[in-house]
Amino acid sequence: MSDSISDKLFTIRFKCDDVSHLIIKEHANCLQCVKKDCNYFCPADVYEWEKKQKMTTVAYENCIECGTCRIACPYDNIEWVYPKGGHGITYKFG
Ligand code: SF4
Ligand code: SF4
Repeated sequence: MSDSISDKLFTIRFKCDDVSHLIIKEHANCLQCVKKDCNYFCPADVYEWEKKQKMTTVAYENCIECGTCRIACPYDNIEWVYPKGGHGITYKFG
């Protein structure tokens, strides 16, 4: 049995919506945000700071709905809702 996070992520199935359930409220806040915490706290690497574009990109398709980004952004800059019914993730073991 494997212990790595990436191996465990393989046990999850996604059904993606066309529309993101995760929204950056104000990109200007991300410019001010020194540590870019979301690039580190998300276990699924959803958020990435793009230096050239000077914005945080959101790969919402990878979200495992852990809820961390609802509370961990120091600027409260992430709007988080559950994916629409029938979309999102399915855990293999529960
Ligand atoms: S932690 Fe919040 S404010 Fe900082 S870069 Fe991420 S979304 Fe933007
Ligand atoms: S809910 Fe969890 S997995 Fe989804 S984007 Fe937020 S921190 Fe990442």
